[in-house]
Amino acid sequence: MLAMIERAGGAPVRIPAGRMLIDGKWCEAADGRTITVYDPATEDKIAEIAAGSADDIGRAVDAAQRCFESTLWQKMRPIDRGRLLEKLAILIERDADELARLETLDNGKPYFVSRNVDMQFAIDALRYYGGWASKVNGEYITLSPLFDDGGTYRAYTDRRPVGVVGGITPWNFPLGQAIQKIAPAIAFGCTIVLKPSEEASLTTLRLGELILEAGLPDGAVNIVTGYGQEAGQALVDHPKVRKIAFTGSTATGQRILQASARHMKRVTLELGGKSPTIILADADLDKAIPGAANAIFPNSGQVCTAGSRLFIEASVFDEVSAGVARIASELRLGSGFDPDTQLGPLISARQIERVSALVASGLDEGAVPLCGAARNGQKGYFYQPTVLTGGRAGMRIAREEVFGPVVIAMPINDLRQIKSLANDTEFGLGASIWTRDLNKAHLLAAEIDAGTVWINTHNVLDTSMPFGGVKLSGLGREFGTEVVHAYTEPRAVCMRLESDGFITG
Ligand code: NAD
Repeated sequence: MLAMIERAGGAPVRIPAGRMLIDGKWCEAADGRTITVYDPATEDKIAEIAAGSADDIGRAVDAAQRCFESTLWQKMRPIDRGRLLEKLAILIERDADELARLETLDNGKPYFVSRNVDMQFAIDALRYYGGWASKVNGEYITLSPLFDDGGTYRAYTDRRPVGVVGGITPWNFPLGQAIQKIAPAIAFGCTIVLKPSEEASLTTLRLGELILEAGLPDGAVNIVTGYGQEAGQALVDHPKVRKIAFTGSTATGQRILQASARHMKRVTLELGGKSPTIILADADLDKAIPGAANAIFPNSGQVCTAGSRLFIEASVFDEVSAGVARIASELRLGSGFDPDTQLGPLISARQIERVSALVASGLDEGAVPLCGAARNGQKGYFYQPTVLTGGRAGMRIAREEVFGPVVIAMPINDLRQIKSLANDTEFGLGASIWTRDLNKAHLLAAEIDAGTVWINTHNVLDTSMPFGGVKLSGLGREFGTEVVHAYTEPRAVCMRLESDGFITG
């Protein structure tokens, strides 16, 4: 049974009826509690999801463990795990319009973004990881041991899945993030319990229906909705969960890392950022100015790699900051179902309060707004795209992640300062450098502490490129070849070969 929600400018949006997916069956929270879901564009109530507890997590982990140990799962050929992911990709392709409408309703982002970015990312990631399933190999190693006992030694490694994975996701790219955890877990032979964000769980629940339709074995993927402190924490604390794959804030990531020490869980953490966009005077400003705007404003700034610190060479500071502000003030805010909308709302009342407080702190510390710096409208969690100048590195607004459509512009008075300006942050997720001088670009790229450095572009993510952060932006990498290490453990097998008298001459 699916309830329908009407939204102007779009077909009715179906709300998935299933609450939590455990062992291949839909169920309610053990204690029956629910969380109310609101449309961030209208503040209307749109659904109830289950508030899962430690009991529900326990049942889900048991199901994932049973599936992991089952002969069916252990004997399944890697190429067939890849086929399951391909099947899921085909089902998402089939239902992409409907899934995108649901994402827009729940998260607020414009429909064209949900449809063309979020859904396409999910489909591509499933195909990328599906291909990986059959390409995990060990190594053959020649040894030179310290002792000589007359034999010769050889070793090889194989790679084994870590076991049950706990996936925990945020609300900014809900379906894409769910796939980012589920697809590698299944590709590499693990099973998973996924806890989506309580702020945006609906497309993950719809994904659960497609997972059943694709024919994944019961318990291979379990979905438990709920609050982070409760369901999320229970997943992190569960002794049978061998790995946590987390995307979210740095504060939560730090708690997860501490809690994981007890059972020595494997952990990958994709956390927050305060990424610099660096514009040199020799850049093609016709591209760099919209590039800087595109680095910060899409998804209303709720992007972990958002270019929220804008460093501009002094001679072009006024031209660039005014250009970015002009683009910002022309962006159209509104319902994600309105085809003219370019920016949707922030996710929640809590988020708009946080963004407003950080901007207020910036103004108190002397920042000057070129545009924005206020909520937009009376209803819905809309915040005006904001460009601040007068920034100094020490200000709160220049140090803390805002996770909203807010950029602080600061001048580069001496090119020798760029490295220290860009790296003067606790974070290290992304950075972009805009220049026509490739020599400068590559020399600078080598100096910036970030998991990804873009040159004359920003926010280009691809499943084949490793993604993650340094410093407080995270631990480990997702995507690319690096991800194999996150979901598998190498096992070394060492053998002694008795060669005496067997091979002569
Ligand atoms: P959050 O840390 O508040 O929540 C993320 C998830 O963790 C949610 O599912 C939440 O329920 C859960 N959680 C909260 N407390 C928990 C606990 N004690 N134990 C276990 N789970 C817990 O983050 P958010 O506000 O949902 O997301 C925004 C943050 O995510 C930003 O900081 C952003 O930069 C970051 N992010 C990072 C990336 C990346 O790839 N690096 C991508 C997207 C978002």
